[in-house]
Amino acid sequence: MALIVQKFGGTSVADIEKIENVARKVIKTKEEGHDVVVVLSAMAGETDRLINLVHQADNEPDGREYDAIISTGEQVTVSLLAIILKKLGFAAKSFLGFQGRILTDQAHKKARILSIDTKILREELQNGVIVIVAGFQGVDKDNNITTLGRGGSDTTAVALAAALNADRCDIYTDVDGVYTTDPNICSKARKINRISYDEMLEMARTGAKVLQPRCVELAKKYEVAVYVKSTFTDNDGTLVTKEDKYMEKEVVSGVTYDRDQAKITVVHVPDKPGVASRLFTPLAQHNIIVDMIIQNASIEGFTDLTFTVSRKDIKAAHKLVKKVAKEIGAKNVEVDEDVSKVSIVGVGMAGHSGVAAKMFSALANEGINIMMISTSEIKISCVIKAKYTELAVMILHEALGLSKD
Ligand code: ADP
Ligand code: ASP
Ligand code: MG
Repeated sequence: MALIVQKFGGTSVADIEKIENVARKVIKTKEEGHDVVVVLSAMAGETDRLINLVHQADNEPDGREYDAIISTGEQVTVSLLAIILKKLGFAAKSFLGFQGRILTDQAHKKARILSIDTKILREELQNGVIVIVAGFQGVDKDNNITTLGRGGSDTTAVALAAALNADRCDIYTDVDGVYTTDPNICSKARKINRISYDEMLEMARTGAKVLQPRCVELAKKYEVAVYVKSTFTDNDGTLVTKEDKYMEKEVVSGVTYDRDQAKITVVHVPDKPGVASRLFTPLAQHNIIVDMIIQNASIEGFTDLTFTVSRKDIKAAHKLVKKVAKEIGAKNVEVDEDVSKVSIVGVGMAGHSGVAAKMFSALANEGINIMMISTSEIKISCVIKAKYTELAVMILHEALGLSKD
């Protein structure tokens, strides 16, 4: 008998019929003799609807109330599943984040899980109850409801799997695994059977939204075996695990994209010590994550500094940077929201030369201009005009030999 955590995403619980389908899957696992902890997202589109509602009330809403509202989608799905399971004769009980003792820090909208006191959930499991936990939410030390960032139910599932020492964490979604690129925009994408934590982490961080980055970080840290599979087919999925000899040693294993990018350029900045620190410290203090940064070569003591942030942070970042730019004597601050980031990821890249050149020529051949470049040992990212995103993904997938025949 094993303990299995099963997480179902928004499209898997989009209506009552789909929740009934989830119930059948859960029952199958339970009847095989396993203990089951289910983690659910809100119905597809519901979190977006709630966010939109909040923004109609206030463009810069209070974080505490924002989280209290946008976490409600999950409250509905967990109770609906519990009701359906009970109707079918199974003991089941729903838990919101605070009821499941999921303690987080106080960073509203992007809280991190600090600990989970599993005593209550374990007692329920021992009594044969199917435990259903609302994804995406927790509670801070002052009893405020928090949320874990978009896609955060994945993280709830892996954190619970780690805390309960589960044998497996199954992530059920609307595609049947992790692909070499988003199968919804590239028909030639191939399913990956096994992928290492490191590669999956880089793919998630650069935009492959099939798993939330924080969930992969936790899976790696606690060595949770994560199995990504489809709710709607019985096809084999993708196992995310430690690097092993069964993995294909591709130089590049995936192409990702991230449309959630906006670019800020501080023009004609005096090139002297302390300037970057003055610009970026206020952003850090406001919890704004800066992704790529480039500084141009200095000409006659002046330079341009360009960086990217998430689109949702652009207004706040612009305001902060404009203030500092004035103080340090920069000429101007320009904002460009019409950009996206395409990346190639692969652990094999570290020992290979020529991959970057291949990427840059593939983009150049299509006339796609590269505005910014950043690299790590296992990824190369380029910022390009947003309208070329899908084209860039497809040509890179082809040029790097990832397409299926
Ligand atoms: P869920 O609601 O189940 O959490 P998400 O929409 O968050 O589902 O994630 C699944 C989606 O991730 C897929 O529909 C697909 O479009 C997208 N995706 C992006 N990159 C990849 C990839 N490399 N492999 C699989 N899916 C991907
Ligand atoms: N419902 C949340 C979201 O849409 C969490 C999740 O789906 O994982 O982001
Ligand atoms: Mg998701």
